Order: sequence, then structure tokens, then C-alpha cells
Amino acid sequence: MGTLIEAHQLRKTFGEITAVDGISLTVKRGEVLGFLGPNGAGKSTTMKMITGFLEPDSGRATICGHDVQETPKLAKSKLGYVPEGAPSYSEMTTRAFLSFIAEIRGYRGAEIKQRIAAAVEKTGLEPVLDQTIETLSKGYKRRVGVAQAILHDPPVLVMDEPTDGLDPNQKHHVRELIKAMAAEKAIIISTHILEEVEAVCSRAVVINRGTIVADGTAEDLLLRIRHHGAVSIRVPAERSDAAIRLLKDAKVVAGVETLGKANGHTHIRALPRDGALEAADVAALLRAQQIPIDELYVERGRLDDVFRQITTSDDLKRKTNGKGASNA
Ligand code: ATP
Repeated sequence: MGTLIEAHQLRKTFGEITAVDGISLTVKRGEVLGFLGPNGAGKSTTMKMITGFLEPDSGRATICGHDVQETPKLAKSKLGYVPEGAPSYSEMTTRAFLSFIAEIRGYRGAEIKQRIAAAVEKTGLEPVLDQTIETLSKGYKRRVGVAQAILHDPPVLVMDEPTDGLDPNQKHHVRELIKAMAAEKAIIISTHILEEVEAVCSRAVVINRGTIVADGTAEDLLLRIRHHGAVSIRVPAERSDAAIRLLKDAKVVAGVETLGKANGHTHIRALPRDGALEAADVAALLRAQQIPIDELYVERGRLDDVFRQITTSDDLKRKTNGKGASNA
């Protein structure tokens, strides 16, 4: 089966607050979906509904075709969930906690040991197996959370901010683990860290105020930035007027911006028309007029810019629609 996770029109309100307002998505085997959004956008609430830990007001979610509300046991047998933060049962040792989860999952005897050994190997928990969870570093606590989620080797993994609060080495380790598991599973991870999307996700969904505002690969999202593919140059300040005039007249240039002046140089950005702007053409154009180029590069944009652009323009749209800051 291709599609392992399906959410259809999920909706959840808490009193006056509409946390999730009609979210639909599908995730196929082999996909790692990054779930992005500002604080309070509705990421955790959506994940809890997808994993069956929270009942939606309306809409439904299925895991491997099993409805999480109607057939929760079946759905949960196909699912590993890493909730936000550290695992509870902090007074248990790592080994005792994982044994306990294995028993809940229905394993007995030697299989418990085998399951724990496999999960411990993947998550690198060997050094802390006999330490109580409360005494572990944040990184190891997160790894215990991941280990309990993969004990039964589920085809679907849902991870709420799996690298939150980890140091760069620990982040790298968790990301490598996600990548290693990706081919066989459908994975959703929520994150605030945009570099994580480029590092591990095949696709990203951006949500804001409970609705999906963008869906695509990191590259698709970058295309939404106005200056994606723009050519930036630095030229001597005394030649900047000539350079700007030349660029403005070029057919492949949609517009020219001056980004700043420093150390006797002017930083200019030429915006592409229909994606047709080549750095080599800009260089040739300026050289033909003996305008020296101090620096030249093509701008790709950063996911941070996309994120800000999408989530703030959505806010603006809502405000101009007269809906104000509420989700009503
Ligand atoms: P963050 O990135 O900060 O974790 P999030 O995108 O995961 O945020 P949610 O935790 O899903 O967002 O919250 C969405 C909205 O619903 C927020 O306004 C939050 O305050 C509200 N909310 C979430 N859970 C509850 C609850 N149990 N009771 C009342 N309001 C809630």
C-alpha cells in the first residue's frame, strides 16, 4: 500500500480556540513529511489526532487504512508516536521502561529482549540502559522516546519535535536515524528547525492558525520567495548607477534593488523574469561596459524567509478579511 497516513478534514476546537481547522494530508511509504508552523499553529493537536490520542471534533485519520478512532488497537499496532518532551515513568531505568512498553505491545519472553536490543542498537542507548530516565541528558531522553516508538518496528512514525533541545551532535544522530528508517516507513516530524526540513524531509507542509498554507518539497517552498534565483552583485559605488541602468534594460531582469552600500561598494540584486536570469549573462553584460564586479552569486533564498513570508502574509490576509487575530 502506498499511502500509509491519511488525514481528512481534521478539526478541533478548545472552547473559543480553533486549534485545527480542516487539515487533510496523506503520507506515502518512503516519505518524510516535515510539519512546520509557528508556535500555536496546531501541529501537536494535529499529530495527536492523527495518532488517535485526541478525538477530533470532525474529520478522520487512518493509519495503514485503519481508522484511528474506530479501530484504535489496529491503527496503533502500525504506529510509533514520539510525543513532545521526555517520556514519563522517569523513575524507571531505560531497560525497565522499554521492557514495560514491549509488554504493553504484547511481546513476551525472549522476544522482549530481541526487540529492546534492536531498538537500543538503532538509538545508541547502550551506555544508559541501567540509568533511571530522570538522570539522563535531554538527548538520551529523546532517544528513549524514539526507542519506545520503534520497538515494534511500525510502518508509520509520528514524531513531535524529535530534535528539540538537542545539541548539534545529538541532532545529527537523530536525523541520521530518521533517514535510515525513511525508505521503509511513512514518517511525519514536526519541527521549528527549518534546516531539518532540508536535512531529512522529502516534503513539507506549513500550517498556520490550524490550516495548511503550503505543501511541497523544500525546493518548491523556496520557489515562493520573490528573490529566488535573483543574481546579486557588488560593484564599485561610483559605477553602481551605470550597472543599475544596464540591468534595468535587460529583458531577463524583472526589477533591480539596491541592498546596501559598504566599503566603497554597492550591493545590487537583479530579480529574474520568468526564471530566465543567468549569472553568466549578468557578468557578461557588466564586463562589456567595463564595470568591475567584486562579487556575484545566485540567491536561493532561505527556508526561514519562506516561512516568514507564508505565515505572516497569511496573517495579513486574515486581518484584511476582517477575521482579525481569532480563528473563528
Ligand atoms: P508549538 O509549536 O508551540 O508546540 P503547535 O503548533 O504544536 O505549537 P498546538 O499545541 O497544537 O500548537 O496548539 C494549537 C492551539 O490550541 C494553541 O492556541 C494552543 O494554546 C491550543 N491548545 C492546544 N491544546 C489545548 C488544550 N488541551 N486546551 C486548550 N487549548 C489548547
